[in-house]
Amino acid sequence: MNMDETLYTNATVLTMDAENPRVSSVYVADGKVVAIGEDASRHAAGGRKHEVLDLHGATLIPGFHDNHIHVVHMGDQENRVRLVGLDTPEIIAALREFYGDQRPNEWVYGSMWDYTSCPHPHRRFLDEAYPDTPVLLTQFSGHAAWLNSRALEFFRIDRTTPDWPGGTVVKDPDGEPTGVLREPAAHPRIRKFYFKRLTDPRFNTTALRAALAALRAAGVTSVQDNTWLPQTLAAIRRMHAAGELTCRLSCWSYGESFVMNELFRMKKFNSEWYRRGPVKFFADGAFSSRSAWLIEPYADENGNSGSGKSATQIAKKIKPHLRLGRSCAIHAIGDRAVREICDAAEMLTQKGIRVRRSVRVEHAQLISPSDIARIRDLGLLISAQPAALTDPDKDIGLLGTERARSAYPYRSLIDAGVRLSFGSDYPGERVYKPIEIIHMAVNRTSPERITADEALRCYTIESAYAEGTDEIKGSITPGKVADFTVLSHDITSIDPAKIRDTEVLYTVVGGKVVYARELNVTR
Ligand SMILES: [Zn+2]
Ligand SMILES: [Zn+2]
Repeated sequence: MNMDETLYTNATVLTMDAENPRVSSVYVADGKVVAIGEDASRHAAGGRKHEVLDLHGATLIPGFHDNHIHVVHMGDQENRVRLVGLDTPEIIAALREFYGDQRPNEWVYGSMWDYTSCPHPHRRFLDEAYPDTPVLLTQFSGHAAWLNSRALEFFRIDRTTPDWPGGTVVKDPDGEPTGVLREPAAHPRIRKFYFKRLTDPRFNTTALRAALAALRAAGVTSVQDNTWLPQTLAAIRRMHAAGELTCRLSCWSYGESFVMNELFRMKKFNSEWYRRGPVKFFADGAFSSRSAWLIEPYADENGNSGSGKSATQIAKKIKPHLRLGRSCAIHAIGDRAVREICDAAEMLTQKGIRVRRSVRVEHAQLISPSDIARIRDLGLLISAQPAALTDPDKDIGLLGTERARSAYPYRSLIDAGVRLSFGSDYPGERVYKPIEIIHMAVNRTSPERITADEALRCYTIESAYAEGTDEIKGSITPGKVADFTVLSHDITSIDPAKIRDTEVLYTVVGGKVVYARELNVTR
């Protein structure tokens, strides 16, 4: 369905534009918003040839804009058999159904099996079903993998294989491998194998295609992507040329590798569909591995506060990029890592280097209250992913009750006037659907919960602000692109407990309907 001029009418339009926050119609021409509200009706009555999309009271919002995602990894997940909650016979059956009985030389991949439903994974179960085909199944956390004998042979892993950094071969009492590996991605040959796969053009195209399908069905019209690899960027460009992109991307380079970053940034971009994103850095690790850098030690590990990069190290890394007018996105989970970024930003500001709106803190799951005003005054952007709230109890053990309650301080950040945007970090986190993520941010029991209206702002106009594109998207304003999501309900006025039941009815990108629910009922 491609309409040059369309009147969207009979809708609750939440524009995210303070001048005209709620209207009932929008007029779109050539992919842009031309008029809203009464102006839209007047425009339509002016005799111009147009189509009418009667939304029968549905809610139209600016398209969801995910501030941090890993699109190719997302597509890879979408293309794999998901084994969550299955026991061994069910896993074999699921693989057989997905792949058929036998595929010589082709790998069989599965993901998200877990010990709770499959407590005794062993290669012999996989060998029975796949004696000649290598099988690799990643565990729910990603920190373990279950392989068959053929795959172990491929990686030359046997009873004599020594441990690798953080990783090991799990063995039977007789010393033979069970097929389960801990931290498989850190094994040199497996790491090389993964990298080869990630740089394969066909893999990239297939994964992107799957990710785009899932994103448009979830109402996402823009993503800020940890692209990193020139091969992925090339696949994005090919898909754009073929008219296959249904979501706008900003593509981040990987700052921790000088060569990779420069190769990536030399590529050609396209300001409308796949723009140049910030340079990505890491300041610390993660909560789950107790490697996020905290001011006070972990509650369950005496003396361990995690670790990360100092302010001086951070400043040194980002300075050359900021000087070139690039923005930098720095992964920081713990409050100490966030503080080091503040200190680095202060040092650079004093040297006359612009950090305002050019330095963003990714995740910022724990922030010391005393740093919030500094973040605002320095103009640092907070890029949060409320999908981390999926399991609110998981942080209590490692942070202690009080710190866990003050984590993800969205309320405090918004009240202080910090620019806060939302996204998924999928598949680093387990949820990519904005409706579910907004539900979590609004329905948490912590005093840091926010309203649906605020969450919606964070997922639209604030993500555009963080991307530096709020002049052209993020709100339904004449002159901006016609990127919309149509929802079954107005999530700002329904019972917050029901937000997650809201359905995406249409996704519109550049005035073109790229997803309509009724066309997908069979899927
Ligand atoms: Zn991260
Ligand atoms: Zn990430």
